[in-house]
Order: sequence, then structure tokens, then C-alpha cells
Amino acid sequence: MPQLVNAILSRHNFILLGLRGQAKSRILRSLVDLLDEQVPVIPGCEIHDHPLAPLCAACRARVAREGDALEIGWLPRDARFVEKLATPDVTIADMVGDIDPIKAAQAGLNLADELTMHYGLLPRANRGIFAINELPDLAGKIQVGLFNILQEGDVQIKGYPIRLRLDVLLVFTANPDDYTARGKIITPLKDRIGSEIRTHYPTTRHHGMAITRQEAWTDRDGGLRLDLPDYVREVVEEIAFQARADRKIDKRSGVSQRLPISTLELVVSNAERRALEHGEGVVVPRVTDLYAALPSITGKFELEYEGELRGAEQIARDLIRASVGSVFGGRFDGVDTRTVVEWFDLGGSLLLSDTTPAEEVIRLASSVQGLCELAARAGVPPGAPAPAVASAIDFVLEGLYAQKKISRTDDRGYTAGESAAPRRSVRREEPSLEEEFRLPAGKKKYYN
Ligand SMILES: [Zn+2]
Repeated sequence: MPQLVNAILSRHNFILLGLRGQAKSRILRSLVDLLDEQVPVIPGCEIHDHPLAPLCAACRARVAREGDALEIGWLPRDARFVEKLATPDVTIADMVGDIDPIKAAQAGLNLADELTMHYGLLPRANRGIFAINELPDLAGKIQVGLFNILQEGDVQIKGYPIRLRLDVLLVFTANPDDYTARGKIITPLKDRIGSEIRTHYPTTRHHGMAITRQEAWTDRDGGLRLDLPDYVREVVEEIAFQARADRKIDKRSGVSQRLPISTLELVVSNAERRALEHGEGVVVPRVTDLYAALPSITGKFELEYEGELRGAEQIARDLIRASVGSVFGGRFDGVDTRTVVEWFDLGGSLLLSDTTPAEEVIRLASSVQGLCELAARAGVPPGAPAPAVASAIDFVLEGLYAQKKISRTDDRGYTAGESAAPRRSVRREEPSLEEEFRLPAGKKKYYN
């Protein structure tokens, strides 16, 4: 942030360098808010000429002719931002402009006359901000054109020199990996970019949660009240942190902040579906709803070779389990969970699913000694509605499972932990790859 503010104060053209999902484009778009709400322009001018300092010949002629009687238009700030995704097929004509021979012929003008110019995106961004995303993808020739405009204020189009003293803030984004993988930014252009600013992912889980809270669509308008427990938000966010640190996931392509955002949306949707199905008036997501959010996780990272062997879906499941373990460990640090673990060790088992109604979860859980008391420590206030209590119970069970204190089958049967003896038929070792792959979301799971 300070680097960004300094670049703006220094009137630098700048580039944001960072991995995907670090809000690079978002930052550039938000620059619009720093512009005046509206600025005076000469109406009809394609490059938004200032009435007191027009650039184009047509406007200069108009000002000379009409003087103070010249009509003035007002340009809102939203119209002063132009954005272009760089692709290799972008041409100088798209970016800067072209000479229009028909226009020239009709008006009886020489081709080199700027009145024959058909303006591209950059001149149309005059007196505004021009953002180019993924700059390295832009052909070297176009980058030279941009450099000329930055440096000299003129450009050659089809051999004709065109003078364009534009007043534009040029901002760019690039993924550092692309420097080598796809294209590169030509040195003279790089040299003309005043500031090179590295973006980053949220540094703390709390920052990440604030961003996800802001971006995720969770306020559903179906008339149901949403009560989203903090520990669910934390687990969702933790998945992104775990994924960014996981050596089976490609670090150079990064793990976008869109992962926790869309994951949270699916988690809420799964809870919403359950609430609708059982006529529950309040929607309370559970951490096991995360398994219904696999579609928003698996596509959002690139795997290293080792990860490919394990498969995206299994990696996502591992991430969820590790995230639950991390959040549970933080919240239940020093809390005695022995009573519940012993109940399972003595042969108790519990079968739940993500569609089990809240009342049923509570009824089943109350047979497990100490479980409801433990769940209350997840931060559920006394007298909380059943879905909130059920969610806390679910969190404790998944937490104990993540810490390997109890076991759980694919169909969410909870049983005794792996260290407990004797082994019973319902309990299983860590499921094999193939079994996990066949598991559709929503199947029951045994906790032992
Ligand atoms: Zn003009």
C-alpha cells in the first residue's frame, strides 16, 4: 500500500507484479475513485480534449472559431478508465489507432493529417487511466509503440508520424512467472515504468477473512437468516493458506483469493439447501459443508508432479482436514477432550451426514458423553438455535478427526482413533485414493 501511494504521489506510470488472485486488476480499477468526479471536455471529441488546451486539430479549430461560446461537456470519472487485457493478437491499431483512408478520401485530406486518424484505446483514455493487464503478453512491437508515446508523445502509424501529447496514467499488471514463461517486457518500456510494485496474498488469516467476507455472496435473499460461525470462516480461509504453503501445489502460479471466496459461497449454499430441506429457519454452515465445496477448490490450483499423483480432489480433502485441524487446534488448545475420545475408544460410533437435520445431530450427539459440553466451547451461546449447536458438534467431531484422536469413514461414521485398541470393523485406515475418488459429496461419514 505505501508503495502504491508513493507511486501515485510521484505521478509514476506503474506496474503491479504478482500472482493470480492478488487483486491486481481490482486495485487498478479502484484508482478511478481518486479522479475528480467530472472534468470539462469538448463534446464529441474522441480523445476528451480539454476546452482550454485541445490536442486534436478539429478541436483546436472549433475553439478558434467558437471562442467562449463553445459548448462544454462533462465527463464522469467512470468514463476515464480504459482497460485492456493484453493478448498476442493485439495490434497497434487496437492500442494506438489507425489511419483511415476512407475518412481521408471523403474529406480530401492527406493521409498524414491527424484528422484521418481512427483512435485506438490509448488515445481514448486521454485525461484518464489506461490499464493493460498481463503486459508481457503484448507483442514487442506494441510495447515499443507504448514506449514511444511515454517517451516522446508521438507514434508512427503505417510509417506516418502522429503527434499525440496524451495526458494518461499508464498502469500495468503482470505475473512474475510470465516473464519467462510467455513473453517479456521490453527493457526500454520497463525502464519507463516509474514503479514496479509487488503484490501479495493476505499475510494473516484475519486479513484474508476480511477480504473474503467483503467479496463472498453470503446474504441470500430467500428469507432465511444466515448465522455463519467464525470457525467456519476461519477454516475456509485456512484452506487458502494451507494450499499456498503446500509443496504439492505449484507455487509459481499461486492460489487465488478467489478460492476462499467461492468456497465460502458453496459452503453457505450447502447449508442453505439443508435448511430448506428440513424447514430450518436459520442457515448455519458446518465445517463438513466444505466437502460440498470441492468444486470451488480443485480448479483453483496447479499441481506439482507429486500432487498430480495424488489427484486434485484428494489434495483438496487433505487441505480441508488440515485446515480444520489448525483452526480446531487454535480454539481448543488446552481443552480436555478425553471424555469424548474415550467414548469412541470404548466402542461408540456415530453416523452423520451433511444433510442430517440439526435436531437429529443434537439427539445423536447427546448420547456421546461430553460432546455437547465440548461443542459449547466452540462459542455457541446458551439457547442458540439447533442448527448452531449442530454446527458446533460437527466442528468438534471434525476437529478430533483432524487431530487423529478419532477416526472417520468416508460416509462420515465417527469411531475410535487409530491408536485405540481393539480395532473394530466399522473403523478403517486412511482411505485409499480410489475409494475417496468414488465418494460423491453428501455421502454419510462414520465418526469413530
Ligand atoms: Zn479533440
